Amino acid sequence: MKHAGEPSFRDSVDLMFNRAVRLMDLSPGLENKIRVCNSTYTVRFGVRLRGKIETFTGYRSVHSEHMEPVKGGIRYALSVSQDEVEALAALMTYKCALVETPFGGSKGGLCIDPRQWDEHELEQITRRFAYELIKRDLIHPAQNVPAPDMGTGEREMAWIADQYARMNTTDINAKACVTGKPPHAGGIQGRVEATGRGVQFALREFFRHPEDTAKAGLSGGLEGKRAVVQGLGNVGYHAAKFLSEEDGVIITAIIERDGALISDAGLEVEAVRAHMVATGGLKGYPGAEYVAEGAKVLEKDCDILIPAAMEGVIHQGNAALISAPLIIEAANGPITFGADEILRQKGAVIIPDMYANAGGVTVSYFEWVKNLSHIRFGRMQRRAEEYRHELLVNELERLSADRGLGWTLSAGFKENYLRGAGELELVRSGLDDTMRGAYAAMREVWHGRGDVDDLRTAAYIVSIGRVAQTYRSKGL
Ligand code: NAD
Repeated sequence: MKHAGEPSFRDSVDLMFNRAVRLMDLSPGLENKIRVCNSTYTVRFGVRLRGKIETFTGYRSVHSEHMEPVKGGIRYALSVSQDEVEALAALMTYKCALVETPFGGSKGGLCIDPRQWDEHELEQITRRFAYELIKRDLIHPAQNVPAPDMGTGEREMAWIADQYARMNTTDINAKACVTGKPPHAGGIQGRVEATGRGVQFALREFFRHPEDTAKAGLSGGLEGKRAVVQGLGNVGYHAAKFLSEEDGVIITAIIERDGALISDAGLEVEAVRAHMVATGGLKGYPGAEYVAEGAKVLEKDCDILIPAAMEGVIHQGNAALISAPLIIEAANGPITFGADEILRQKGAVIIPDMYANAGGVTVSYFEWVKNLSHIRFGRMQRRAEEYRHELLVNELERLSADRGLGWTLSAGFKENYLRGAGELELVRSGLDDTMRGAYAAMREVWHGRGDVDDLRTAAYIVSIGRVAQTYRSKGL
């Protein structure tokens, strides 16, 4: 989707990297070692479908093995290319370092339009792709752990996990070979919505700092802010749903492949999603204005722009026309390097992809740990926590009765306080903590040194610094 004459996605990521390392004190050798992509494996394989052999092309790129396993999603889209997976793998390295998940960066992709194949065919294709990667240890619990990305989800991850288990029948950690599995097949509660939830937590954290919101010319909290969302897939749908239902954000426009819906009074995310599932697009949704040229709606006046579809949608050709003062990159690479420069000059604040959409890899990390420990989070401590809370509540009630104080604990308080944390609560708590911690690290660089005036450069400085530290401690 890049504008004519702009660098490729891969080059765009490298240019952002270069902008940050210019402000760091790294040896040129180490800088280059971190920047380059270690390897990209290309596979072409045939599957007999509909009476003939169809050949597919797939990739698995490993950007950095400073920590292993390496981690990164598998994307199904016709636009998948070596350049794209390498850019996404590099972003994974920086993302994992920023949110302190102990992984290197990787990414995979298959050139396929998943909508052209039925479920059984997709299973055959996915299993064959997984087979090719598994036999080269490019899917492996200790070496390379994929996850969902555009065009893939729980279903594909379950097929991949099963394929690995079939090929590694004695590997007790087989389930940890991939994350984003359904809960009944070794997944974890809260993974499906994790990236969207992370976008929500990132925005909540941003709005906790009046100094930061002021940089975007905004004030107050999230309540009543107007947001435009592009892409109502896994990430965009969950982000828009949580922000509108829980934080009072008004979703004034939703942009999809076939156009956009606009309603200044606010769109009901669930209803729009239901319409999209039923009809395959946004057109015909009642109660909102439909615009066929969706990309133009990115320029609509709003407080928060949430590109959650794909890379390169804000480019040198439209950056100057974007009116949102705050952009949160829910997708990977939605703003090109050239557009980033234009937007920064205009004073827009950009919450960068490597932070904004890190909720997915964070909860994937929890899932991987769960698979390796072979026990669900909270299983040992939940009831013990409840017993202890009950002791305190009973004691307070006894004291109140003994002394005739007439205190009563409100029913809501008692219920909430007495309930021990289950897996979902623990996952949310871990995700919230991670998003706050990573924001604090970026913020320190953003405000703490005089030469960094944007969050993206701050994020790169934090993550490159951490990767460099790991390499140095290995003697590189
Ligand atoms: P998805 O396939 O579930 O959803 C993508 C949505 O965008 C679809 O509804 C699609 O119709 C829409 N879309 C595609 N092209 C569009 C266009 N040109 N204009 C408007 N809408 C368009 O994918 P996803 O998993 O939600 O991923 C979206 C982005 O988020 C990608 O950049 C991905 O790399 C990134 N991401 C995803 C995860 C995850 O956990 N799934 C994690 C981190 C980052």
